[in-house]
Amino acid sequence: MTYAVKEIFLTLQGEGMQAGRRAVFLRFAGCNLWTGREEDRAAAICNFCDTDFVGMDGEYGGRYEAGTLAARVSDLWQEGERPLVVITGGEPMLQLDGALIAALHARGFEIAVETNGTLPAPAGIDWLCVSPKAGTEVVQRSGDELKLVWPQPGIDPEALTEWDFSHFLIQPMDCADGEAARAAAIGFVMDNPRWRLSLQTHKLLGLP
Ligand code: SF4
Repeated sequence: MTYAVKEIFLTLQGEGMQAGRRAVFLRFAGCNLWTGREEDRAAAICNFCDTDFVGMDGEYGGRYEAGTLAARVSDLWQEGERPLVVITGGEPMLQLDGALIAALHARGFEIAVETNGTLPAPAGIDWLCVSPKAGTEVVQRSGDELKLVWPQPGIDPEALTEWDFSHFLIQPMDCADGEAARAAAIGFVMDNPRWRLSLQTHKLLGLP
C-alpha cells in the first residue's frame, strides 16, 4: 500500500478544540465529494471547499509507503513534547489505514484526523473530527468533535446532536459573503449554547 500525499508541513492547528497546538499537517490527495477542479465545483456534492488537494505537487508531496511517510512526518516535527499529526485532505479515509496509524504511533505521534464522515474511520485514531456535508450519508457518527461549516442549507444541526461526539462546533463558511456567514454562526451559537464557535485562526494569522 502506498499513499498519495499532496503536502506535509509544520504549523499550528487553526480550528476546533485543538486550535493553537503545534502540529504536522499531512494532507492526502483526493476527495470523494469533489474532483478539486474548478470546472467541476458547481456540480460537486461539496462545493464550498477552500483547500487544494489535487495532485502530489505540494511541499513534500509524493507517493509514500507507511514507514517512509511516518519518518517524513517525524522529521518535520523535529523535537518537542506531545507530537501531533493532523491527517486531512481531501478525504483522508480514502487512504488512511492501520499500517500508517501503527507507523505514526511507533514514532510517538498523537493522530488527529479531519474527515467528512462518509467513510468509516479505522481503529486507532486519537482525535477524530467529523465535518458533515449536506447531501451526503454520514456513516461515521461518533468521534471527538463534530464541526459543522455554517450556514449549510440541507443540514439539520439538531439531528446531529443525537450523534456520539464530545464537542459540537459551528464554523463560519469561508465564502464570498464571509461577514454574513460569521453573523449566522455567531447567531446560531447564541441561540444554541450546546454548540461552540470555531474560527479558522490559521487564516487570521497568515499560517498555511
Ligand atoms: S469534503 Fe472536505 S476536502 Fe472534500 S471537497 Fe468538501 S471541504 Fe473539500
